[in-house]
Amino acid sequence: MDYISTRGRAPELPFDEVVLTGLAADGGLYVPRRYPTVDHKEIAAFAGRPYAETAETLIAPFTEGLPRDLLHQAARGAYATFSHAAVAPLTQIGDNLFVLELFHGPTLAFKDLAMQLLGRLMDALLETRGLRATIVGATSGDTGAAAIEAFRGRANVDVFILYPDGRVSDVQRRQMTTVADANVHAIALDGSFDDAQTLLKGLFRDESFRRGVGLAGVNSINWARVVAQMVYYFTSAVTLGSPHRKISFAVPTGNFGDVLAGYVAKRMGLPVERLIVATNENDILARALATGRYEPRGVTPTQSPSMDIQLSSNFERLLFDAIGRDSGSVVQAFEALDRDGAFEIPPGALRAVREDFDALAVNEAETQAEIARTYRDSGYVIDPHTATGVRAARAQLEKSPGTPVVALSTAHPAKFPDAIERAIGLRIEPPPRLAPVLEGKERIARMKRDSETVKRFILEHARAARVGAGA
Ligand SMILES: *Cc1c(COP(=O)(O)O)cnc(C)c1O
Repeated sequence: MDYISTRGRAPELPFDEVVLTGLAADGGLYVPRRYPTVDHKEIAAFAGRPYAETAETLIAPFTEGLPRDLLHQAARGAYATFSHAAVAPLTQIGDNLFVLELFHGPTLAFKDLAMQLLGRLMDALLETRGLRATIVGATSGDTGAAAIEAFRGRANVDVFILYPDGRVSDVQRRQMTTVADANVHAIALDGSFDDAQTLLKGLFRDESFRRGVGLAGVNSINWARVVAQMVYYFTSAVTLGSPHRKISFAVPTGNFGDVLAGYVAKRMGLPVERLIVATNENDILARALATGRYEPRGVTPTQSPSMDIQLSSNFERLLFDAIGRDSGSVVQAFEALDRDGAFEIPPGALRAVREDFDALAVNEAETQAEIARTYRDSGYVIDPHTATGVRAARAQLEKSPGTPVVALSTAHPAKFPDAIERAIGLRIEPPPRLAPVLEGKERIARMKRDSETVKRFILEHARAARVGAGA
């Protein structure tokens, strides 16, 4: 299975290269040449299987060229770090309304599901090549923690995480800054997540820097993350009777990686009725679906910081498909975005997107009200990100009460205790897993949002730069 860039000007690469590369050299994102499919009999056979086994089966066709044993070991190791036997269990909170708990991993957010696998795949791939890599990631909060947890102490990798100073929760920040391993570096940048992501994309476009440090990416622009996230759409749907009935999913969305994974599951053959994009007040996706105009505005900080994003990178992958995989049109759209600050989604592509997706923007007051309502109705505490998904799921159930809706719970409420306390007047007890994070000493490198400053810091600290090797 070869991978092609959405912008059509980067070399085609096999899976292992795509994993190590992240962003394509032409600024595009890698996508598989075609989507492998599973039939209904194969889907039905996932019932009752361990999560790691289903993951391996579903991911294998995307990883042609990768030794199967490597994938097998990585999947087993990754999902053994979860504190729930089901890895991603479902909880029912209303008629046909389910919450998919994706927060049982080491950092209590859904990012672990992909990152634990990616960390193992990357380290093993580097080991077999005798290479070192430098991972630089931008985070709106949870990706950084998950990446640091997945890569800390690994022999072949140094990790640098850029986060927007003052715009992540205390728990999120401490998860990144209290890790003592020498290969971990948390960098606080002034500005928003979008600023950090733009700076990161610039690093990837700097060919000599990229080579010099063996730059590798772990943001959801890395295809391996999308493909790992596709798995829980299957496992949850099968629990609810798939493939014999359709399921809808409501997904708290920022960078569009998670909900894109739902789309990939559907393209692979999972019977999905609707994919509902839930946003907070940073509603570019809801506006784009409603009007056809993709137009970022300034980022508004909210109580769901991991969704405080206006430039949803992975939307490019959906656009590429919706536009008939015409990379020329994708390039034009993103040139217009750079030039004019917006682009129009071509009418045919917009129709195609609407065939699979709905979107709902949930404001701050509605988010608080949803946390309170869910607690009142079912005694179940949801975090503010999850609340946007549950709210969107309820709206979908009003339209289509006969189809089960799964709201993805992307973070444990203990990561956002202040927002929970405001909504229901209860202080959430931190789970034991958080103790070292809440007590540890913080280590932070504060920096201006200037790519030369960031590059210098990375060059000084990356082991790959010293030996001059690169991936
Ligand atoms: C990352 C994140 C999201 C958004 O996911 P995307 O894949 O970026 O759309 C939502 N909720 C939480 C808690 C997150 O960490």
